[in-house]
Amino acid sequence: MTATAPREEQLWSRCAGCASLLYRKRLRRNLDVCPECGQHARLGAPERLRQLVDPGSLCLLPDLASEVDPIDFVDVLPYPHRLTAARAGTGLAEAVVCGTATIGGHPAALAVMDFRFLGGSLGCAVGELITRTAERALEDRIPLVLVTASGGARMQEGALSLMQMATVSQAIAGLREAGLLTVSVLTDPTYGGVAASFATNTDLVLAESGARMGFAGPRVIRQVTGRALPEGFQTADFLLRHGQVDMVVQRRSLRGRLSALLAAAAPRGRPARPPVPRQEPASRRERLAGGGPAVDAAPSRSTAGDPVHGGPQPALRDAWDTVRIARHPGRPTTLDYLESVFDGFVELHGDRLGGDCPAVVGGVARLADRHVMVIGHQKGHTTAELVARNFGMASPAGHRKALRLMRLAARLGLPVVTLVDTPGADPGVTAEEHGQAAAIAENILTLTVLPTPVLAVITGEGGSGGALALAVADRVLMLQHAVYSVISPEGCAAILWPDRPAAPQAARALRLTAPELCRLGVVDEIVPEPATAAHDDPGETAHRLRAALLANLLPLLDVPPAILVRQRRQRFRRFGAARAGTRAGAR
Ligand SMILES: [Zn+2]
Repeated sequence: MTATAPREEQLWSRCAGCASLLYRKRLRRNLDVCPECGQHARLGAPERLRQLVDPGSLCLLPDLASEVDPIDFVDVLPYPHRLTAARAGTGLAEAVVCGTATIGGHPAALAVMDFRFLGGSLGCAVGELITRTAERALEDRIPLVLVTASGGARMQEGALSLMQMATVSQAIAGLREAGLLTVSVLTDPTYGGVAASFATNTDLVLAESGARMGFAGPRVIRQVTGRALPEGFQTADFLLRHGQVDMVVQRRSLRGRLSALLAAAAPRGRPARPPVPRQEPASRRERLAGGGPAVDAAPSRSTAGDPVHGGPQPALRDAWDTVRIARHPGRPTTLDYLESVFDGFVELHGDRLGGDCPAVVGGVARLADRHVMVIGHQKGHTTAELVARNFGMASPAGHRKALRLMRLAARLGLPVVTLVDTPGADPGVTAEEHGQAAAIAENILTLTVLPTPVLAVITGEGGSGGALALAVADRVLMLQHAVYSVISPEGCAAILWPDRPAAPQAARALRLTAPELCRLGVVDEIVPEPATAAHDDPGETAHRLRAALLANLLPLLDVPPAILVRQRRQRFRRFGAARAGTRAGAR
């Protein structure tokens, strides 16, 4: 807040890089790049668009000032108050501005994020707006350019914000299939759920000079590892060195570079604009071997009947107690279930790129005499096991192993069953060097188009993007005392409440329990646990899980893959769309 904003401060501004006092107009003429040290100041979305697109070519897509507070989130301030303040402070309806325009004469659809608006966080409205922009690109057969600036998913919208990673990713998958170019331009900062989805699963990734990008933020990694971070960690040059971006571009060259790339992607020998019907794209055939051509059948009904037939509604338990049960060391792990629920498990190892992550296990197994591919996070019961398995926190190699097994399953026509139990993806230096964000992003995108049934079960902790990387599925089940959340209660409390002891409050505010997620439609069915919880009677838990898996999987086996994929996409599309229509007051 600028309580005192005398003329002086509007005329001059201080460079965050070298502390030079700069004449505001001169700075703006220089695209907000410090003439003394080259520091790229952050840009709001409107200014960014002015710099990038051809003058007079911008046609804004309609805003979506969603006024709904989907989970009635309250920390020290109610969420609607924060939204109102962000709107007043930026003059924007949301944290993204979308439109179509030309860049160097080449048409493109653009979505530009604005970090000033609640840290550029990805909520339902932002996800919906970017998805619509991608759909517009598909309709007009033009490339999509995304300019990212975000701290990650918007925790005030709980798991619904997490779902936006899938919603936008599947829109990007649609453009891939149609042979249309997608480009993301990383600007400072791009983190969390945005980094682990549409910022990195585009065809091309450009980093603006001075941008930092990563899945886990530096503060979190320092806290977890207790070590200082390497010089230049997560900077644009770091990303280039580790093969995660195509190029690092100075702001003054950005428009020229984009223009050259868009030119290369323009349809040959005809103007870019008019829609051209296309055939089955090669990329899809290659990726989804055996998927067959897109089938256009009438929309069919949900394949597995009632949304909730998981037995009696469980007695209400405090969210924080549920978090503790979900983390109980006696709780059955993926390998326990592979022993008790499935038969003949044959484990498959390795990502074929240089690693085998012990936090993810997978392989072929039988479920009531049907072959399936099972992939799950693996924790452990003892400290030694937990350490050996990195507490179930997957590295990029783990996500890539999962990706390999998913694709193999599709080729072999095997359904995929995932068992999700992770505090989150590995927050470490090596994980970031090896492209954690892009690895998660690719899994999410691939699951949105995988032409085989996918059934996910949240068995313990469903921790943010690391969980979603295994949970974009036709049916999502959840054990009664499991939790599924966009951020850990401790992480949320550290950001939104001044003190640590607020984790129990954060757990309640995040709506991370099975009944609440069922109500929000994030989860389709609850698998009841024996009294008092799964760890007290693993045998009975396995029995119930097996029954739930069969009840949900068998109907999916009869659905043609193309219809399955379309219904899966509709499932994830509705998290944005459901909210878009509603403009009712929040409270
Ligand atoms: Zn400077």
